[in-house]
Amino acid sequence: MAPTKKKTICCPECHGTMVWRAGTDSVEYRGHRKSVRLIGYWCQDCAEAVFEGDALQRKEAAFLELRAAVEQVLSPQRVAGIRKKLGLSQRKAGELLGGGPRSFQKYESGEQQVSVPMTNLLRLLERDPRRVRELLAALARRSPYDSQSTSS
Ligand SMILES: [Zn+2]
Repeated sequence: MAPTKKKTICCPECHGTMVWRAGTDSVEYRGHRKSVRLIGYWCQDCAEAVFEGDALQRKEAAFLELRAAVEQVLSPQRVAGIRKKLGLSQRKAGELLGGGPRSFQKYESGEQQVSVPMTNLLRLLERDPRRVRELLAALARRSPYDSQSTSS
């Protein structure tokens, strides 16, 4: 708790008193619900809560995690974790595994949800990270020869 924070503010809903404390909020996606502990201003008289900065980000992350679980794909955090385990930059991962140079930036920020096929591929590679080297070698071999062999 930051010492500079005001201890209470006025509730925008009911004009009651809101207190700066930890509480349990929840996120919802397609009928599924997940609770998340957040520090923010909680109204003493109604259900209203006001969050800022870090808490807003944590709530967003909780939502993305729930959505990924419901859709049975990897969450942004898991995508980032697997990519790092494979030793790939975001750009290289996109080039190697598909989706274009910015795809992993989008997956990991939550801007775009990772697909089921990409989830399958990442899960396979996570179990055997050394196989990424085969893909990297194939990528390196490809370049100038492809255009010649396909033209015949
Ligand atoms: Zn209120």
